[in-house]
Amino acid sequence: MENQIFKEYRYRVINCDNTTCKLYRYKTNNNYIEPIQLIHKDPKKVRVLIITEQPKILKGSDKLTNKTFFCNKEERSTITQLIAILGCKFNYFIDEKDGPFYWTHHTKCPHHERKPQSKCMEKYFTEEIECFANLKLLIAFGSHPYPHIEKNNHNKDNIPNKYFEYFYRLLEENINEKYTYPKICIKKKEIIFLALPHPSKNNSLRLFLPKMKNMIDDYIQHVL
Ligand SMILES: [Zn+2]
Repeated sequence: MENQIFKEYRYRVINCDNTTCKLYRYKTNNNYIEPIQLIHKDPKKVRVLIITEQPKILKGSDKLTNKTFFCNKEERSTITQLIAILGCKFNYFIDEKDGPFYWTHHTKCPHHERKPQSKCMEKYFTEEIECFANLKLLIAFGSHPYPHIEKNNHNKDNIPNKYFEYFYRLLEENINEKYTYPKICIKKKEIIFLALPHPSKNNSLRLFLPKMKNMIDDYIQHVL
């Protein structure tokens, strides 16, 4: 069963009341666009948290809900690419809203301008980490979540403060097949951290992802 703490957290995100938040909120047929925060039946089971940048900004009368998020997989390139990188298990558990994986977005409240939305992510990021008592691995896609995670990390020696330095180290690790499982510390919780390039088409670093498959599988197996 979804626990109360997570349920309350989810509702707070969905009804984001940050005064600076610029989320596209408009009313169509009495439906408001709201931030996505997926359901998980048992947050205690979550061991791997996947963070992508921000949900797609839908236009017109599309309502952004859990349903549209799940149902239009073929139209949603990010999930197709995530399945290719993380495997069928990820797909299965996200569909089931259960098990060791949970998928979230760094920027909960999507907007073309990213800066005003940073207040929302500051508000929710550490709170979300705390919802998962048995979290062991954080996989972040794209360079946007990196500085925010780095800022909240208390094991400063374990990861560089710039994403490109981190990525260079990761490439070396991948080539040498010597996996280091660096641990960050957020809210007194030690979590292995893997920051990967965003898989979207306009990011050329995505071309490294298929070559990192063994390493990514190894990190996931290490904590399951
Ligand atoms: Zn917001």
